[in-house]
Amino acid sequence: MSENIFITEETAAGDDDGPLADKTVAVKDNISTEGIRTTCGSAMLDEYVPPYDATVVERLKDAGADVAGKANMDEFGMGTTTETSAFGPTDNPAAPGHVPGGSSGGSAAAVAAGEADLALGSDTGGSVRCPAAFCGVVGIKPTYGLVSRYGLVAYANSLEQIGPLAPTVEEAAELLDAISGPDPNDATTREEGADTDYAAAADGDVDGLEIGVPTELLDGADDGVVEQFWSAIDELEAQGASYHEVSLPSVEHAVEAYYVIAMSEASSNLARFDGVRYGHSGGFEGNWNEAFSKARREGFGDEVKRRILLGTYALSAGYHDKYYKKAQDARAWVKQDFDEALADADVLASPTMPIPPFELGESLDDPLKMYLADANTTPVNLADLPAISVPAGETDGLPVGLQLIGPAFGEETIVRAASALDQ
Ligand code: GLN
Repeated sequence: MSENIFITEETAAGDDDGPLADKTVAVKDNISTEGIRTTCGSAMLDEYVPPYDATVVERLKDAGADVAGKANMDEFGMGTTTETSAFGPTDNPAAPGHVPGGSSGGSAAAVAAGEADLALGSDTGGSVRCPAAFCGVVGIKPTYGLVSRYGLVAYANSLEQIGPLAPTVEEAAELLDAISGPDPNDATTREEGADTDYAAAADGDVDGLEIGVPTELLDGADDGVVEQFWSAIDELEAQGASYHEVSLPSVEHAVEAYYVIAMSEASSNLARFDGVRYGHSGGFEGNWNEAFSKARREGFGDEVKRRILLGTYALSAGYHDKYYKKAQDARAWVKQDFDEALADADVLASPTMPIPPFELGESLDDPLKMYLADANTTPVNLADLPAISVPAGETDGLPVGLQLIGPAFGEETIVRAASALDQ
């Protein structure tokens, strides 16, 4: 049995009927739940109880689902292993002794362990897809603007989307059906895709599907992972798909650009946690500067502090053009590369993670190693595109995920293609 999946085990009942009636959903602990503690995996918000439900929670309750509890996560979504949580790490039910991935590790572990039928995570730079891959479940990162972020505690607003995790592609698509669509409370949501029936797209029909394989996304991957990747492509080919190799030269800069942008946005978003407006209070001793510093020193963990410092640095006068603006230029280049590659392919395919799950404790003191593991997931967030991670076998007994990336609002296509692998 995997440990420490939920931070808060309180549940909330949804409507009696609806498409998700009787389903239980583990909700990542950065998604607001009315009357239920929402900590973001941080001592800073240990006692925070939101007065309202996030739009996605309201929608899943309307669809008949129940909240199964609040799932463990890396502090404020910052991590790839769920080990930066102030509440301790979560074991991987599919590979005990290994991390479940992150930052939505508790959500993926809840589904893998059968503690919940479905789960919600958030994906700023891979945080739904990485844990899906590491725990052997399905995870979808929707197109930017398909799912409301109202009630999601922000890490990096311009990159993140809430996404479903489930044992199968069809169930993940059912949850996407329930939570997607425009929301007056989130001005970045769009009409596109609102009327699409994603679950109906999980029909496994890949006849004639053209897959582009970006060679750069295979370059640094482990041999065992690459082997599983090609056998998944073979399986799709056997069902009528074909593939060709493509090049995305910009993605070699994606991890750097992602971390500059994510840390910059985070340093600004996390300024509100000062112990007065929100969060842990250090006791109001000394002047305001001392009081704020004490609250933040005590409330935030090391990884969060590192990112606030680096993000503040990247945004400061004199460095803004050198780092932040360069990262935005790289982001535009990544978008353009994806647009070009998707002009000749229905989907792009890669290993979700270039490596199998780390052992617990292995990467915690090596942030760079952790950041580099995001090589295949972060480009998708920079480009605002949808992607799905679907199980694709194992290497040395450890789960491997296949990532399928689609054009903007092309969730139907990635759901259809991925479902061919779990029929
Ligand atoms: N590993 C990425 C990060 O630490 C993932 C973040 C996420 O998607 N929340 O920024």
